[in-house]
Amino acid sequence: MNLKAKSGEKLPVGILGATGSVGQKFIQLLANHPWFEITALAASERSSGRAYKDVANWFMRTPIPEHIARMEIRQCHPDLPCKIVFSGLDASVAGEIETDFARAGYVVLSNARNHRMDSDVPLLIPEVNSAHLELVHRQNFGKGMIVTNPNCSVIGFVMALKPLADQFGIEAAHVVTLQALSGAGYPGVASLDILDNVIPFISGEEGKIESEPLKILGEYGNGAVRNADFKLSAHCNRVAVIDGHLECVSVTLKKKTTTDAIKSAWRHFSGEPQQFALPLAPLQPIHYFEETNFPQPKLHRDLDKGMAVSIGRLRPCTIFDYKFVLLSHNTIRGAAGGAILNAELMLKKGIIKSDSLKD
Ligand code: NAP
Repeated sequence: MNLKAKSGEKLPVGILGATGSVGQKFIQLLANHPWFEITALAASERSSGRAYKDVANWFMRTPIPEHIARMEIRQCHPDLPCKIVFSGLDASVAGEIETDFARAGYVVLSNARNHRMDSDVPLLIPEVNSAHLELVHRQNFGKGMIVTNPNCSVIGFVMALKPLADQFGIEAAHVVTLQALSGAGYPGVASLDILDNVIPFISGEEGKIESEPLKILGEYGNGAVRNADFKLSAHCNRVAVIDGHLECVSVTLKKKTTTDAIKSAWRHFSGEPQQFALPLAPLQPIHYFEETNFPQPKLHRDLDKGMAVSIGRLRPCTIFDYKFVLLSHNTIRGAAGGAILNAELMLKKGIIKSDSLKD
């Protein structure tokens, strides 16, 4: 198998679930990536054997890259001309397919829920828990491995909590999400259900938001992650916004502090992606807005390449200590962009080994 991309300079990568909402965002973000080149697109049997442009209902705001439009979609079998695959597969099939790819020696960067809570699988946000990448050495896939992204609402939520956990400790957190339509995949929620409406239920979502942050904010030691220990409660709602999840958060801290100290913790927060100046890293992972009516999906979801978390409205809470509002882009930071940043960090740290990566 020829593992060099055609240019000979970039690493060849494949996209599993390339036709879907997350798959399309992978294509858009990887089209001009300095380190990766898309050499394979795969989806279900329904789509395989056909040209991408004839199958995908492309709804990105940029045109389909020309060479992608003509590329033939393949089945999700581990015989693709690459060794790194980004997965935007539906969760009903992702678990088994991703395991097959890892067993066949592929590095799998997954957005699906299936492997997130496996004890030997990192649930990675590069600015927050890069130490958890050590878990891949406990996997039994030979050269293959699986690294997962958290749920799209969890990523922004945990990025906001991490500086608070480090500096003040977290006792309890409560979150009400207002989640965008693109989070439901394509075609997603029927227009007659969501126009003029809010749907106060997203299947399985509250359980993910109440469990995944505890793993991500847990400590790595002796080959395992010891989960963080604080109370979490979530309400999830689907709203008629295309992209960008807004979340209203209340938090009780272990150490008493001030709003200025919290804002400063957010503004100074950064991690390895910023130290290494990774291609998709936001320059500043958290932006705090003083405007009383910010952040807003339409205005702020694309901030810093869609990879930054916007926060505003920090104020005292009469039940918890403080409350605030956050926003993050669900298909960029919360899915495809997050998985690409994971791969960039893994390359930079030598967890994915490549002699064809150019600095
Ligand atoms: P989607 O639009 O429904 O796309 C699903 C993809 O899976 C399509 O490419 C589809 O291919 C493929 N697929 C379905 N059945 C298959 C099968 N039997 N074999 C092979 N491929 C199959 O979903 P999405 O919103 O992109 O989400 C993808 C994954 O990312 C899900 O696990 C989701 O939970 C997760 N996620 C989504 C978001 C978000 O904001 N959307 C954020 C974070 C995580 P065909 O077109 O051929 O059917």
